[in-house]
Amino acid sequence: MPDHSFHPFCEDRIKPLPMMIDDADARQLFARASMGQTAYHVWAERARKERRFNTARLFDALSAARLARAGAAFHRLGGIRSTAENVASALAGLAVDAGDAGRATGTTDFARELLARAQRAASEGRDLRASELGDLFVCTTCGELQEGELSGACPQCGTVAEAHRAFRAIEAMGTLGPHAIMAFLEHTEEALRALVADLDEASLSRRMTATTPSLKEQIGHLADMDAVFRERAWLLLETEHPVLPPAHPPTLDSAAVYRDQPIDAVLDAYHMTRKQTLSLLRGLTSAAWHRSGSHELYGTINLLHQANWVIYHERSHLIDMAQLRHDLIAGDRRRYQDATVTGVVVTGSNEGE
Ligand SMILES: [Zn+2]
Repeated sequence: MPDHSFHPFCEDRIKPLPMMIDDADARQLFARASMGQTAYHVWAERARKERRFNTARLFDALSAARLARAGAAFHRLGGIRSTAENVASALAGLAVDAGDAGRATGTTDFARELLARAQRAASEGRDLRASELGDLFVCTTCGELQEGELSGACPQCGTVAEAHRAFRAIEAMGTLGPHAIMAFLEHTEEALRALVADLDEASLSRRMTATTPSLKEQIGHLADMDAVFRERAWLLLETEHPVLPPAHPPTLDSAAVYRDQPIDAVLDAYHMTRKQTLSLLRGLTSAAWHRSGSHELYGTINLLHQANWVIYHERSHLIDMAQLRHDLIAGDRRRYQDATVTGVVVTGSNEGE
């Protein structure tokens, strides 16, 4: 009986490697590229935590390139069959004997050139500038990496430009569109109120360590950041291609003042600024969301970029705050490992970019 679980023409979407390699080489490449993919991926996450968004973009692109290579090698090994067979393989436990896999990152001359630029920036204690790292494109078939603009199909394997993954400077902060942006911005206050529910003033002001902020400081910090975001949004909407002020956004340290305020005052501060921000953004046309300006690090940016920036920042803090709430409550009840101490208070924090 024919298998109708997949469309026959879709079967070969992942093509095998263009060059001929034997099984031993393919096993080694599968292991090496898989390890490289993971290393680049977690390095990208770390770079974002350090607010090095262009360096993170480079690591993300290199990770995608390694994934394509690993996928092609896996395909060469006959690892990709029908979903029913793949489920059976997954249950059986995939075993790979790759021997000594060898070097997992920095494997092409071009990757090394890009990494050298990142090294130069890092040695100066800063992120790569958009002028130092153009838009990056990764061929999803063979992992070929290109910078700048795509002129056509992949020069290595002939895969069309449409099947490349883009890592654009203007999307370094994420790719949420207006609808998702507004939905997120409208719901943060609700999440903040859920996070502080049933915690007393002392707990809300408590720092778990000398260097980690309390819940009140984090909420106050989000209010400060929202005001900066609104000012930038206003400049983008009301002036022609503004140069965004180089002043760095308020740091968490400057939010220490909120620690001595009652939680209602801190939440009010957040409520007031977000309300103004939402009324500035509500009902904007697509053209308005694409109005652009210049940023010293990110080059040409637009309102979508800035909104993704503030959402990325807010989402990271919401996750930290959910953890802090859990630790405060669990610690008080000496049930540190008990998963049921706090339910899910922040929703939508793990949706895709
Ligand atoms: Zn290719």
